[in-house]
Amino acid sequence: GLTLILSIHLARSYHHLFPLKSWVAVPWTEAKKSVACFSCQTPFPPVPKAAPPKIKLKVKESSGVGGQTAANIAKAKGRGEVPAKTNTVTAPTPGLLPEAIKAGVSESGRYKCPECDEHFCIDCDIYAHETIHNCPGCLARLVKSQQQQQEEVVGAGEAMEVDS
Ligand SMILES: [Zn+2]
Ligand SMILES: [Zn+2]
Repeated sequence: GLTLILSIHLARSYHHLFPLKSWVAVPWTEAKKSVACFSCQTPFPPVPKAAPPKIKLKVKESSGVGGQTAANIAKAKGRGEVPAKTNTVTAPTPGLLPEAIKAGVSESGRYKCPECDEHFCIDCDIYAHETIHNCPGCLARLVKSQQQQQEEVVGAGEAMEVDS
């Protein structure tokens, strides 16, 4: 015969069959879209306007009195300021960047759900994937669309909203 099970057991196996999609680390270029975690409202680190080390180096370069003499370069090397080399290091290989971001920790502190595109903090990422097995952003969307459907049924004359 059939084994009677509780609905929570079904829900548990559902989570194993259809696990929540992994969230991806958000690069700085996309980070300005959000200021706080969608779920818990924890503020995200602000997006840096420009790379500050580059500006500092430029000031030091221009303030050099003697120009590019060998003695000056040697002096700069001794103090640990080597402008020419550090400039090349600050530009990472563009092709490698997305993969590196995907694998590692998000530099911007933001993690994005590929389904709903909302940004979350690391704590909510872990909580959503290991405990509740649901995305707060996707659930919020679901509620929204259900509300919209109800509104459409009530006021049938109104134009349909299509989100691009
Ligand atoms: Zn959060
Ligand atoms: Zn989502």
